[in-house]
Amino acid sequence: MTRHFNFCAGPAALPEAVLARARDEMLDYRGRGLSVMEMSHRSSDYVAIAERAERDLRELLAIPDNYRVLFTQGGATQQFAALPYNLLGAGGTANFVQTGIWGSKAIKEARHLFGDAVVAASSEANGHTAVPRQSEIELSEDAAYLHYTANETIGGLEFDYTPGGAEGLRRRDGSEVPLACDMSSSILSGPLDVSRFGVIYAGAQKNIGPAGLVVAIVRDDLLDRARADMPSLFSYRALAEAGSMINTPATYSWYLAGLVFEWLKDDIGGLVAMGASNDRKASKLYATIDASELYSNPIAPVNRSRMNVPFVLADSRLDEAFLAESEEAGLLNLKGHRSVGGMRASLYNAVPEAAVDALVDFMSDFEKRRG
Ligand SMILES: *Cc1c(COP(=O)(O)O)cnc(C)c1O
Repeated sequence: MTRHFNFCAGPAALPEAVLARARDEMLDYRGRGLSVMEMSHRSSDYVAIAERAERDLRELLAIPDNYRVLFTQGGATQQFAALPYNLLGAGGTANFVQTGIWGSKAIKEARHLFGDAVVAASSEANGHTAVPRQSEIELSEDAAYLHYTANETIGGLEFDYTPGGAEGLRRRDGSEVPLACDMSSSILSGPLDVSRFGVIYAGAQKNIGPAGLVVAIVRDDLLDRARADMPSLFSYRALAEAGSMINTPATYSWYLAGLVFEWLKDDIGGLVAMGASNDRKASKLYATIDASELYSNPIAPVNRSRMNVPFVLADSRLDEAFLAESEEAGLLNLKGHRSVGGMRASLYNAVPEAAVDALVDFMSDFEKRRG
């Protein structure tokens, strides 16, 4: 068996130790004589798996007690709809900071459902190469919440600050505007102060586990702001009250997410260590890009994503050879998103430093031979 280095943007690499453990437990989960996949989600064994996953995630992110952790479905894309349904019940308008394709999709969905969405700041004018600064965010007076995308997975653009800072976002009358964040491609990549957020959500398939699961972290007091006309499966309150089991949850993905949380705690040593490793990985790759004549990345250095590194070759006629030869060298999924072309290397938690070492060696060698 050979496992190659996988730089896929999502569904993405999983830690080998997690896959090995899942393999060992696959046919017979701890002597129960069945697979986790075959268990009732109401069984005491499964409920223990689910509760352990939540406990470990709470510990990793130091999630305060006044936040609920939800394990739901429908991808991050479903949250583009669920979030406004849950937060617009008292009226007001959804506000957005737009920094790329995912944030734009969230805006489009809010407009589609509720006709109105305010772009409080956008990096469109600079081609989404630098995020708007705090002072450029202009909330509408009726802002019900502000949504942003912490890391734009396709553009490779990451916020270097949390909007609102430690004081939070305020309307002119001093009342708080809750912050909602799509953290699909950066959650768990380093330490995080959850208390600054009203809602955090993330599709699992980048940094949490397999596809089919979404983790949402919701501050208690926001459970009362939902619209009455919402599909009941979207309801944060209903999910919270049912322990995320209104209906059958994505049981196996939830179990695997739990194994990833254990791996982060026990094998990696927590999010400070994970963050340091991610910094090293990204620095190595950006240094290689910056030192070369062949490769380039357009993002302002402070906003360069640690998780997704897009780059183009000076001569796009070399793209095909780059992709064919990198795959030959065991470096998988370096092709850029279909909407932007070029290359993209995603360096999520489960991508080991050795993968980045192999990639930068390949890139330097390719440039020597073909550049
Ligand atoms: C991948 C991604 C999404 C879409 O996730 P789905 O689970 O496919 O709906 C949304 N936002 C960001 C930032 C992403 O990286």
